[in-house]
Amino acid sequence: MPQIVNLLDDSTANRIAAGEVIERPSSVVKELVENSLDAGATRIEVELEEGGKRRIRVRDNGCGMVREDAVLCLQRHATSKIRSADDLFAIRTLGFRGEALPSIASVSDFHLVTKPAEEETATEIRVSGGEMVRVEDAAGPDGTTITIENLFFNTPARLKFMKTAQTELNQTTDLLHRLILAYHQVAFRLVHDGYEVLSYPGSHDPRVAVAAVWGRDAVREMVPLNYVSTSLSVTGFVSKPSLTRATRSAQAMFVNGRFVRSRTMTHAFDSAFKQLMTGDRFPVVALFLSIAPELVDVNVHPTKIEVRFSREGDVYSAVHQAVRNAMLTGGLMPEVRVEASLSAETAPAGTAPIDIVRGSALPPKTALSSFGRSEVMLPTTAVVESGDGTGADAGAMVPTGQPEIVFSEGDPSVRPPSDDGYIGFDGYRIGRLRVIGQSRNTYIVAETEDAILLIDQHIAHERVLYEQMMNGATEQAARWGVVAQRLVLPQTVEFAAREAKIVAERRSALERAGFLLEPFGGGTFVLRAVPAAVADRGPENILREIIEEMTAESVARRLPVPQETAIIMASCKMAVKKGDPLTMEEMTRLLTDLAAMRNPFTCPHGRPILLALTHREMDRKFHRIGPH
Ligand code: ADP
Ligand code: MG
Repeated sequence: MPQIVNLLDDSTANRIAAGEVIERPSSVVKELVENSLDAGATRIEVELEEGGKRRIRVRDNGCGMVREDAVLCLQRHATSKIRSADDLFAIRTLGFRGEALPSIASVSDFHLVTKPAEEETATEIRVSGGEMVRVEDAAGPDGTTITIENLFFNTPARLKFMKTAQTELNQTTDLLHRLILAYHQVAFRLVHDGYEVLSYPGSHDPRVAVAAVWGRDAVREMVPLNYVSTSLSVTGFVSKPSLTRATRSAQAMFVNGRFVRSRTMTHAFDSAFKQLMTGDRFPVVALFLSIAPELVDVNVHPTKIEVRFSREGDVYSAVHQAVRNAMLTGGLMPEVRVEASLSAETAPAGTAPIDIVRGSALPPKTALSSFGRSEVMLPTTAVVESGDGTGADAGAMVPTGQPEIVFSEGDPSVRPPSDDGYIGFDGYRIGRLRVIGQSRNTYIVAETEDAILLIDQHIAHERVLYEQMMNGATEQAARWGVVAQRLVLPQTVEFAAREAKIVAERRSALERAGFLLEPFGGGTFVLRAVPAAVADRGPENILREIIEEMTAESVARRLPVPQETAIIMASCKMAVKKGDPLTMEEMTRLLTDLAAMRNPFTCPHGRPILLALTHREMDRKFHRIGPH
């Protein structure tokens, strides 16, 4: 019998492994930079030529290797990171398979110079297409420099697969952006064809990393995530509704420092956000989950970024809570801010200057120090309150103190106004508030313990009606719900054919809004009840306006309007209007209702309900803080 089973020689095995792990220049960079991070480097420099097709060099100041290790690391399954299968469950490094270096060296001209700080001389190794060419002593700095030339020269199929230099460069830039977010203390630099593409100095402050990746303006529009339980923690930043994107491109999630995709995490994030906001845009997020390694499935393919957890439910609720808390405690209430200089001198201590060549260049901000030129920044550009009370950080990127995070299980409890007239907004940034009056019959003016609030009466009422209608049958709605008022004399209402169809389709939504309609044949309906809130404001006209808008919308969409949209339209039509005078009682009642809402900060479309001018900001404006 002829022998048909063969053992693959190492070099063939390496090349096959390379086919799986090394797809393109950026995957080489990923493996090398991850090794540098595992080696404890605090400074990592990546140099590419032709997007990495001609040359890739990664230089680090990590622990380096002695000669024996340097030779060994080029063998298959040589790793310093695990010793036995048991270790697999406690992996805290980015690599552990011992495959990357031999794989890369099997499909390129590979050059390594490495030296631990304790050693006198460096070791230099050359490998070409997997064949060890030379090992010798050399001069070199502490750390490791690996140079890859002619990637895929001996694997023509892969070679053909490479894209333009620009595309390959973009891949590496994206990769470095993710690494900057995950390893904000480490300095990264990227040079392409001799030009510096990215230079990030490293900072203990993760906001500096966010600014480097998404721009300083993004940092201003983001609030910190902060959730800790016994088995895991969630940190990072999520954007307010004022900063969203059309795609998920600015959403990055990490587990123990590793960039991942997780359905569980994405769902948890989306659901928390969607409970507070409608719309099809995506918030910007950098979310870091820290979890015991043994609860993460490590047995996934090295290039796959999908991750699984042994307790998906815990992860889901942690992410959900983190996002929800962040939005409710700080994310959704814009604060009025007097604009000031954003120059480097006024950056908070410990914030390294940021220098980004490609990507989001920062437009210089002018200092608006003179009284006459200062301006109030409105919601879209409002800045988070800064926290240290010195005023010296005016215009600083974000709070230097973390906003207070309150963990409330479920919704905050509703309390009627106390004797001093304060309404409790427990669990929210507001704390509690008291109505002072009404401005232009449009805005309710209120005060909290540390701020004056302007509340848009129409949007506030819209939110209250919307949540009450959406809740429909819940217990809360029985207490706070939309009260339908039976008409003593039921009215018949006539609709055109197209509108009648909408009425028939969305009768339950209308009913939730308090309009009780019964079909009476053809386009005729009997109106038996109307919402009490609009009973004396011409309810039939309001009903017609709602139906007209629903008809227009469904024509535009060529689909019936969803239940929620119908309710949003109804709440808009039924809410008090700008220009409606309100009594103190009515305003207090409205804000008491608002305090009971799941989200008292934005209308269903994300427009802000309240604007805060903090006492601190006022004091600054009145020059009460400062040298005098
Ligand atoms: P893995 O990272 O899975 O262990 P690699 O093939 O990527 O496998 O690397 C093999 C070994 O080489 C690592 O375990 C590490 O000990 C060593 N090594 C690789 N790169 C560096 C570096 N930049 N600095 C120090 N040691 C390194
Ligand atoms: Mg590795």
